[in-house]
Amino acid sequence: MAPLTDNRTLLILKGAAQGKYGVLAAIAYNIEQLTGLVRAAEAKRSPLIIQLFPSTLKQLPTLAHAAAAAVKSASVPLSLHIDHAQDVEHIREIIATLPVDSVMVDMSHFGEKDNLEKTRILAKECHDRGIAVEAESGRIEGGEDGIADTGDLEALFTSPEDVNNFVAAGIDILAPSIGNIHGDYGPSGPKPGQLHFDRLASINKQINNRVLIALHGTNDFPPEVMMKCIENGAIKLNVNKLLLEVWNEFLRKNAAAMPLVKLVDQGIEILQKETEKWMDICGSSGKA
Ligand SMILES: [Zn+2]
Repeated sequence: MAPLTDNRTLLILKGAAQGKYGVLAAIAYNIEQLTGLVRAAEAKRSPLIIQLFPSTLKQLPTLAHAAAAAVKSASVPLSLHIDHAQDVEHIREIIATLPVDSVMVDMSHFGEKDNLEKTRILAKECHDRGIAVEAESGRIEGGEDGIADTGDLEALFTSPEDVNNFVAAGIDILAPSIGNIHGDYGPSGPKPGQLHFDRLASINKQINNRVLIALHGTNDFPPEVMMKCIENGAIKLNVNKLLLEVWNEFLRKNAAAMPLVKLVDQGIEILQKETEKWMDICGSSGKA
């Protein structure tokens, strides 16, 4: 089995940590989006992590193979990551059968003790196959409404103890909870004070290069918020709607009237341009 020292995701992220820039970890739901993302990476000479959801693996079983083919043939460093894999048996199937570089082992729906124990066991199984592992500490809230009051939030934030526990569980990438949410912040992004940059900075200091930091929940981020997250230690920037909304919007506006081939061509181009813009913002352009 491939040693973890050759792991594509980790090589990309370690390069970014050393060079003090961020790398997009971009969700694709279909082959068109995959194509737009890869073209952006090639055009910008930027590293890129391609992310698929476990549900997409079930919906489109060949997409992971297409992504892996892109990883192999691209002229820039790419890797294939599975985001939010929550089912233990599905994770085992994924790592046994698919050419993935890294997996987010998301056991955050279990209690703390079970979460850590399952994470530790699965991290070992992934590592035995040369696959890197990401896990979420604290709890990154989902849902469009986010969290109502900060009294509840404190318990969900990543604590120094969480950091130690997850590093000890043998993971490679930590996704902390610093006020970030899965879902929409609103058109102007996170409210002032919603993201705890000081907490991110202290987590980064505590980690001291033992693992790499992933940031989830970047919908509606303005460029300056993204850059501040990178400054404070976030290296892997998970992006979904932040990039894909231009694609969605284009399709909503044009799907009824435009011929399919043209729709696909222009959609890919629009997504490519948006991705290139965010590669510039993250500082990864020209780094491949
Ligand atoms: Zn996430």
